[in-house]
Amino acid sequence: MLRKILYSIWLLLVLFTVFVSVKNTNFDTFISMIESRTFDLRQNVLIKERSKNVSDKIVIIAIDDATYEYILDKYGEWPLPRSIYAELVDYIEKQQPQSIAFDLMFVKSMKSNAVADKKLIDMMQKYDNVFVSMNLDDQSHDLRTPPNLPDSLSIRVDNKSPNVDFSSQTYTNCRKILDGILYHTSNIGMINVTRAEDGILRKMPVLVKYQGKYYPQLGLKVGMHYLGLDPKKLVIDSNSNLILGDRKIYLDKDGSAILNWYGPHETYEYIPMYKIIQLVNGKYSDVDLNFKDKIVYFGTTASSLFDIKTVPSSRVYPGVEVQATYVNNIIDNNFIRRLDRSFTIFLGTLLSIITICIVMNEASAFVGSLAAFSVYLLYVFAAYYAMKYFNLWVDIIYPLLLAILTFISAYIVKYLIKSRDFEQQYMLATTDGLTDLYNHRYFQEQMRMMIEASKRYETSFSLIILDIDFFKKFNDTFGHQAGDAVLRQVAQTLKKNIRSTDIACRYGGEEMSIILPKTDHEIAIFTANKICARVSSKDFRLPNGRETSVTISLGVSTFPNDGVTAEELIEAADKRLYNAKHNGRNQVGG
Ligand code: GH3
Ligand code: MG
Ligand code: MG
Repeated sequence: MLRKILYSIWLLLVLFTVFVSVKNTNFDTFISMIESRTFDLRQNVLIKERSKNVSDKIVIIAIDDATYEYILDKYGEWPLPRSIYAELVDYIEKQQPQSIAFDLMFVKSMKSNAVADKKLIDMMQKYDNVFVSMNLDDQSHDLRTPPNLPDSLSIRVDNKSPNVDFSSQTYTNCRKILDGILYHTSNIGMINVTRAEDGILRKMPVLVKYQGKYYPQLGLKVGMHYLGLDPKKLVIDSNSNLILGDRKIYLDKDGSAILNWYGPHETYEYIPMYKIIQLVNGKYSDVDLNFKDKIVYFGTTASSLFDIKTVPSSRVYPGVEVQATYVNNIIDNNFIRRLDRSFTIFLGTLLSIITICIVMNEASAFVGSLAAFSVYLLYVFAAYYAMKYFNLWVDIIYPLLLAILTFISAYIVKYLIKSRDFEQQYMLATTDGLTDLYNHRYFQEQMRMMIEASKRYETSFSLIILDIDFFKKFNDTFGHQAGDAVLRQVAQTLKKNIRSTDIACRYGGEEMSIILPKTDHEIAIFTANKICARVSSKDFRLPNGRETSVTISLGVSTFPNDGVTAEELIEAADKRLYNAKHNGRNQVGG
């Protein structure tokens, strides 16, 4: 039991080292990419279950393919004269929407029409619930000098989290939008996005950094407006939550909020913008519009206007729907929280410990595997339900990988222990405890095998049987303990004077035997004589410290001349041993 525990601790230590050492390597990136895919999978299952629906507060007015065609047809150019947007906003504002946000950038362009632009600027100043977007970038300073942005756009941030760091959301340049908007409203939000290594957009920054200042994301601004918040300062608490009134948005370490998706593209209904243009122009339109208290998002969905992202729920997902999802997450307080890395390691360790318990205590490999994999399956389900009910992203890949590695190693260790036990038992069953020679049973078994092999390959082998001279008397004189010591030392002398392929056994009492494979009679006699001489010349040390000498008598037989069965061979050797005794002992019998 103790050994099992020690093995388990050792195993955990090894696995933990492996786990820690793969951090910050390509392997780590690879694993986190697969983990992200499991996130996508969970999201898609949840979407299929329709576990969360989009808010009916959000309306998207889409510059879709039809609108794009309508614009080119009617106005002959893109971008659309900005006065049109001003007219659309005027129309919608009559219905008192919550807010109107443009996922469009009104930059100065050669095609700009100053009069039309002025109308847009006037409109922005007229309504305080209209938001427009801007984008930071890392464009070369040769191309454009980084502009200073008005102070009113930036926001102070009190970041108390040791984990959240905005350095990857820091940009060195910026493309300005129309000065009339930029310098006269603070309703401007950034639309920079965060893409993972695999190019998939799973999260959105809440703030981006430029020239040492923080600028809020468009979605965050619109969401804060919805919540009635307009602070000049944002707080990120020590647990990485951005505090928004009574809501907390969990931020990943790069300062992004992980979005919870509601469906594939067109989960939000798009109202084609041309239909509203028609309405504004007094034409018939089949849409029945109600913008009261709605958050109205303008954005492009037309394939030729290219603002398409890949998100967990859809390969093609328009940017404006990303923005809508972001605001929707704020409205529902529905962002995803990812479990801490230390928790992930803890869960992996827990799974590994359970694995070790199962493997070490379950005798059947089949049942053990079944039990372990059921636990893993349970874990995957738990991770799924954690996302469903608690918006929690519990890592699956790392803990499972750790557990499966443990599973494999635990089985290897288990079989190593088993085979060692087997070896030990086999040794116990075949050796003699006093002399460390093979025992009688092993001797008989080897004789049988040797005879079979020698018959088959037509080779010879020899057998030496030896007996200590006057041992009864020796015991009587020096005591049984001394006798045992002598037995051990005779055995040692035997071992030292035979080949490694020879098999020395304790035949019984003070009689020993040696099987000499592929050895003819002459060589066996020679060996027997050598052993006889070595024993008689050796000083045997007794337990009381005294030294004495001992002699042995030996008999040799050889297969097949002296017999073809074990009994015949033993009898022949025994007979010669008797001859040796008869002839005065301390010799090899003839
Ligand atoms: P010999 O062989 O020369 O004819 O005389 P012997 O006295 O050795 O005669 P025998 O072989 O018949 O005696 C065997 C003695 O060996 C009997 C027993 O006291 C002793 N003996 C057998 N096994 C052990 C053992 O394991 N330990 C000790 N100390 N003595 C043993
Ligand atoms: Mg004897
Ligand atoms: Mg004897």
